[in-house]
Amino acid sequence: MNSDKYQEGLLISAIQNGTVIDHITGGEALIVLRILGITGSTNECVSVATNVVSSALGRKDVVKIENRELKDEEVDRIALIAPKATINIIRERRVVEKKGVDIPDTLIGVLRCPNPCCITNTNEPVSSRFSVQGKRLICDYCDTVIGSDISSHII
Ligand SMILES: [Zn+2]
Repeated sequence: MNSDKYQEGLLISAIQNGTVIDHITGGEALIVLRILGITGSTNECVSVATNVVSSALGRKDVVKIENRELKDEEVDRIALIAPKATINIIRERRVVEKKGVDIPDTLIGVLRCPNPCCITNTNEPVSSRFSVQGKRLICDYCDTVIGSDISSHII
């Protein structure tokens, strides 16, 4: 038996309803949880496997969240830090939907602009808006660029 496949099967099948986020870059599962607002004090039933051997990625993390299906804007946030992730929606123990993540051209309300004078950081009711140009994210209001450490700017 291929132990890699065996382990993947175990990781994904042991959930009745919910979401399995697979192929997260090794070590980044906890950032994914933070993005989803899951902490020790929320009541989701969450399982995390870190540094699982993966033929495609070397090491990967897997997150299982029971009784929760991710919203599109949550998938957008995950795409920023885990561009190779796959989202499996599970109902009645079966994968009913499997999708890759895709970074959209524009991110609205996903990142906080690092420029404290940006209109999106004032009391104006303006959501942040970033254009995605490769690995650079550019604020549509003040042209501030986020080029590294993206996860620390995620709202
Ligand atoms: Zn800005």
